[in-house]
Amino acid sequence: MQHFASDNYAGICPEALDALLAANAGHAPAYGDDEWTRRVSDRLREVFAADCDIYFVFNGTAANSLALASLCQSYHGVICHELAHVETDECGGPEFFSNGSKLLPAKGENGKLTPQTVLEVITRRSDIHYPKPRVVTLTQATELGTLYRPDEIAAIAELAHQNGLRVHMDGARFANAVAAQGIAPGDLTWRAGVDVLCFGGTKMGLPVGEAVVFFDRSLAQDFAWRCKQAGQLASKMRFLSAPWLGMLEGDAWLHRAGHANAMAQRLAAGLASIPGASLLFPVEANGVFVTLPAAVQEGLRALGWRFYTFIGAGGARFMCAWDTHPDRVDALLADLRALSA
Ligand SMILES: *Cc1c(COP(=O)(O)O)cnc(C)c1O
Repeated sequence: MQHFASDNYAGICPEALDALLAANAGHAPAYGDDEWTRRVSDRLREVFAADCDIYFVFNGTAANSLALASLCQSYHGVICHELAHVETDECGGPEFFSNGSKLLPAKGENGKLTPQTVLEVITRRSDIHYPKPRVVTLTQATELGTLYRPDEIAAIAELAHQNGLRVHMDGARFANAVAAQGIAPGDLTWRAGVDVLCFGGTKMGLPVGEAVVFFDRSLAQDFAWRCKQAGQLASKMRFLSAPWLGMLEGDAWLHRAGHANAMAQRLAAGLASIPGASLLFPVEANGVFVTLPAAVQEGLRALGWRFYTFIGAGGARFMCAWDTHPDRVDALLADLRALSA
């Protein structure tokens, strides 16, 4: 039964699974020294049209934590949105792996930082008693299902670079962001000033794994050792990397993410005619955030629907995935309509 609690409730995309099975062909060199890992890395360099350095890790928390740690000394600070996954959902992982770099939360409408809110943190203090801001991290798509446009990223990145900060992007839903905007992946990253991208694989349909993409190769110095020490170096690396090949082939990743986005649009459109339901944020990727009366939420749960309500009073989150069936969206809407009548 399909649910809307998280896009990672979904299974493995057929393209990823086929590539995984194809990689299960006898012996191959371990620890990333295999042909699949090489081919995927080359393919990703084509996708981004950049000579980037690429590493594969098991999950998003590890990708973000290790990438941020590689940008910071322990006395540095990382500016993030107050609702950023690194701040709210990684159990102190970035601080732990950086030996203490402090996250510095900032505000911003719809889950997005702005040059103004970033500058406010950069200029808040300059004395030796406060962590020195060193990185800005942006989430794309954001935790609230909204998107940064290339010019918005560029404005923040320019400010960051002028002030000696690096730019990290948490792209757990990068595929949804690219599919929704219909532009080149490079335009949402290095061309706009992103130095390091954590490119989410799991939520777009891989069995497991994320890619850490360094557009500035100098920042990846010793990153392999950082991964190994953190328990993030897969010995049978080909099973982390090969599924990417299947997703990148023929742009399956964009088609699948585009489908998830379309299902979110379908849900949002249906919600418009349901009394008592109102969208909390613009629906721009694969997430729909809506206020629902408590009785309606309880009613949905009693009917077996699963969804998160962690974003404040009355707010419910519905995530669509690569395999979300339109009939399930319509069934959810029908139950909502009946409960709200
Ligand atoms: C899911 C998610 C991650 C990764 O989470 P893991 O559970 O560690 O894989 C990172 N950032 C955002 C915004 C996410 O939604």
